[in-house]
Amino acid sequence: VITPEAALTEILAQVTPLGAESVSLSGAVGRIAASSASAKLSLPSFDLSAMDGYAIHAADCGKTGTLEVIGEQPAGKYRALELAAGQAIRIFTGAPIPVGTGAVVMQEDTQREGNRVTLLEPAESGEFIRRKGADLCEGQLLWSAGTRLSAAKVSLAASQGQAEISVGKRPRVGILTTGSELQTPGIPLAFPGQIYNSNATLLQGLLQEQQVADAIVLDAAADDFELLQACIKQLLETCEVVLIAGGVSVGDHDLVKPALAALGLQPEFWRVAVKPGKPFLYARSQQRGEHPRHVFGLPGNPVSAYVTSVLFVLPALRKLAGSAMVKPPRVSVRLLETINNTDRRETYFRGWVDAAAGTFQPLGLQESHALFGLSRSNALLPVPPLTIAPSDSMQSALMLTT
Ligand code: AMP
Ligand code: MG
Repeated sequence: VITPEAALTEILAQVTPLGAESVSLSGAVGRIAASSASAKLSLPSFDLSAMDGYAIHAADCGKTGTLEVIGEQPAGKYRALELAAGQAIRIFTGAPIPVGTGAVVMQEDTQREGNRVTLLEPAESGEFIRRKGADLCEGQLLWSAGTRLSAAKVSLAASQGQAEISVGKRPRVGILTTGSELQTPGIPLAFPGQIYNSNATLLQGLLQEQQVADAIVLDAAADDFELLQACIKQLLETCEVVLIAGGVSVGDHDLVKPALAALGLQPEFWRVAVKPGKPFLYARSQQRGEHPRHVFGLPGNPVSAYVTSVLFVLPALRKLAGSAMVKPPRVSVRLLETINNTDRRETYFRGWVDAAAGTFQPLGLQESHALFGLSRSNALLPVPPLTIAPSDSMQSALMLTT
């Protein structure tokens, strides 16, 4: 039995990023940038008007009076106009600034009659001109490698004229749920003791939420040595990561370890001092000429499977995908209720972080099978072994969804 910290350290030491691929902008949001990027274009890329109005010469700034309108400069057309003192050019938002412009006067501060315009307010020099490079200069860092690409970051790439972004390859994750008691949702339960398979949906959904991997889900396997072996073998052929839920504990029907052994896979470790999630297992196989396979044996109890996935599997997947931030995000919270961890293992309590109030409220039955409480939670609160976390104390919670 090892500590959760030691388990994560061991896993991350064994995981190396899968490398880069190029994706189009439409598929880039949520992906991890594989390399740093710098600006090839300044933003704005030319001096432009911030308003609909009149471009005027520097000599006419700070004054009122009447000017001669010598032309029109809309956005999307380049007319190569030039201004002299006493002249104005009708201009629109986004249009390039004519040579000689000292300021743009907004339409609301003018009065137009024929080819003459009267300035009702004196304009400040430089007013309503957006300067080239005011936002971003050529050569500036857009993002560094390992950054998750938000909609705004991908749109920044678009504004640079980039059609593709180099991102980390996402691991293919095979999901195998095990247990002779499992029934597929949508089919009536056939006998007492049969339960619906919720872990397959839980694990696939977690990967969907986190956008760090592509999932391949097999039908649940009964507790049958040969069947397990065949399913695991099949997933190892196509997936860099294999998640096996259930059958990893110490019961007579827990056949995952023997099935892995028959495939030549010895666990790097088995059992972690974490609650829920003790029977967690990690194994690694070196495939000839291919990326190594990472096998995670998760406890069958849904909350245990979920918590160990959050603590150990997601960080590994993020590292494989090239992320610089592999651990779950944490927030500082005030505890609304005393939590007593009477266990010798570090315990992750499920509950709700109210971000506005900065508080954590434990929710539901704190047991490894209690999926309802988990379904209402957005955070986990770790409490060290044999420790009381008092009401009103400040704690560090781990965010599950944002
Ligand atoms: P195991 O780890 O196989 O001993 O399973 C522990 C508990 O989790 C048992 O009560 C199982 O019935 C339950 N369980 C195992 N797999 C699943 C699953 N895929 N969906 C829901 N419950 C499960
Ligand atoms: Mg089982």
